[in-house]
Amino acid sequence: MVAKKIPMSREELESLTERFPTPFHIYDEKGIRENARRLQAAFAWNPGFKEYYAVKAAPNPYLLKILKSEGFGSDCSSFGELLLSDEVGITGENIIFTSNDTPAYEYQKAKDLGAIINLDDISHIQYLEDHVGLPELVCCRYNPGALKAGNAIIGHPEEAKYGFTREQLFEGYRILRDKGIKRFGLHTMVASNELEITYFLETAHMLFELVGELSAELGIEFEFVNLGGGIGIPYKPEEEAVDLEALGEGVRKLYEEQIIGKGIKSLDIRLECGRMITGPYGYLVGRVLHKKNTYKQYVGLDASMANLMRPGMYGAYHHVTVAGKEDATCDFVCDVTGSLCENNDKFAIDRAIPQVDIGDLVVIHDAGAHGHSMGFNYNAKLRSAELLLREDGSVVQIRRGETIEDHFATLDLAGLESFHA
Ligand SMILES: *Cc1c(COP(=O)(O)O)cnc(C)c1O
Repeated sequence: MVAKKIPMSREELESLTERFPTPFHIYDEKGIRENARRLQAAFAWNPGFKEYYAVKAAPNPYLLKILKSEGFGSDCSSFGELLLSDEVGITGENIIFTSNDTPAYEYQKAKDLGAIINLDDISHIQYLEDHVGLPELVCCRYNPGALKAGNAIIGHPEEAKYGFTREQLFEGYRILRDKGIKRFGLHTMVASNELEITYFLETAHMLFELVGELSAELGIEFEFVNLGGGIGIPYKPEEEAVDLEALGEGVRKLYEEQIIGKGIKSLDIRLECGRMITGPYGYLVGRVLHKKNTYKQYVGLDASMANLMRPGMYGAYHHVTVAGKEDATCDFVCDVTGSLCENNDKFAIDRAIPQVDIGDLVVIHDAGAHGHSMGFNYNAKLRSAELLLREDGSVVQIRRGETIEDHFATLDLAGLESFHA
């Protein structure tokens, strides 16, 4: 069981709304830091361990600065994410650029920053060489195909667009070696929102074995293996968080057998998690605007799927609580909705929550990853502000909410005058 509690009282949230109107996302710095330290400690046995935070999960430079101060790097997959990392001083090999279908200018930016380039396809070796030149260190992304079972969000590896096949991996490193590359990494990312430790241990086992095979066959040495991201979070209160200490220990045992035991040169273990780093420490806060009773009961918020699309997009569960009613019985079954003209704009369906009143503050939990960042402007809805609850209890705005002027900024309204329809 996981307690689903925002670390603020109803009174504190109410007074916050005087400065920052709802809806907003708010992140808990203390929670993020404590969790980051736990992850670091779990892998402290590996001197070169590094977590590269997947920037797409919450691309806010203030959050990146906090994570940088905890020793994290960043995992980027686009030009904009590279710029954000650079902005907070995450540079060089503290960035891994794991992209796909990549344009040359993005590779160029990654190379200029000295980022580790993680290739998604064998054809990109030539593409990179032709457009940008090969960097000193190259990593390749492995897609094990049918050798590994997938999971619900990422799908089966053989259906996934990412990565090299096993044969291409051997061929790819051979080509790189023959082109004079001397520094290598190996990467895979085959899970998303996975709560089973065994899944990650199998992945580590697979990659350690592969490092042995590739090194033996090609006579090359690897500097690191990147086990990818995908560590899940308990979105439902009855789920259990991944035991990070057990995960670190499990990977250590495999490392000792497969790497040390086989006399392979020591490797740095890398992760690129997003969700488990910030997800549980972010909350979407909205207010009840309307209650509606037709064939079902509806509670309508001032937030919508434009602020958090996971429920509408994948039917994802997000826990819902009502500020000040944390201990009330959940005996009101309703759909919690937003205002988009799309019937999947529902944060929860047939969910039992406490009896709510118009004006109550509703908290949508675990919105700290793939939350605000997946926001969009359908129905001319505006993306919300992002706030940070600091360790001393103060709250700072780390991104203002969009205004209607922002929304219209790409339109030439003045030009309309001389446009004759
Ligand atoms: C999305 C993604 C991640 C982060 O995944 P989480 O589920 O947020 O941990 C890491 N690496 C790559 C390549 C990704 O696409």
